[in-house]
Amino acid sequence: MDESLLAPCGMNCAVCSAYLAKANAVKDKGLRYPYCSGCRARNKQCAFLKKRCPRLLQGKVQFCFECPTFPCATLQKLDARYRSRYHMSMVENLRTIQMQGVKRLLAQEKKKWRCPHCGGTICCHNGLCFSCQQDALKKRTQRYRWDE
Ligand code: SF4
Ligand code: SF4
Ligand SMILES: [Zn+2]
Repeated sequence: MDESLLAPCGMNCAVCSAYLAKANAVKDKGLRYPYCSGCRARNKQCAFLKKRCPRLLQGKVQFCFECPTFPCATLQKLDARYRSRYHMSMVENLRTIQMQGVKRLLAQEKKKWRCPHCGGTICCHNGLCFSCQQDALKKRTQRYRWDE
């Protein structure tokens, strides 16, 4: 878990399928997932929020909780989707950073997403480990679902 992978919206890019796919070079093993090196590394935010938020576009906030309208309707919509489908909440992550600091969130994330088999990272988008469960990933018809 790495501080530079915490996006302004509260997403931890370390548990995103696109980040894990790239980190584990899954295309070399025949898995079809998009690659991403993380929000801050790419110096642009995920399209979902970026398109809608001038503050993020202009880099005016380091994290969304610094914004006067936090949590705005767009972030709440994204958060609701992640709460119901992906076992996580950007807003909760941001509140932890705001109240307890980045280190605390990273420690929680490390524990929450640790693969019990290999110590790698479980993906929030499907509940699988991109390091040791590549066969299971191959069998998936829905790449972004936990329950198949
Ligand atoms: S796709 Fe978005 S959430 Fe995933 S690693 Fe890239 S910037 Fe982060
Ligand atoms: S909380 Fe503020 S900075 Fe974050 S997406 Fe909403 S308007 Fe933009
Ligand atoms: Zn594993």
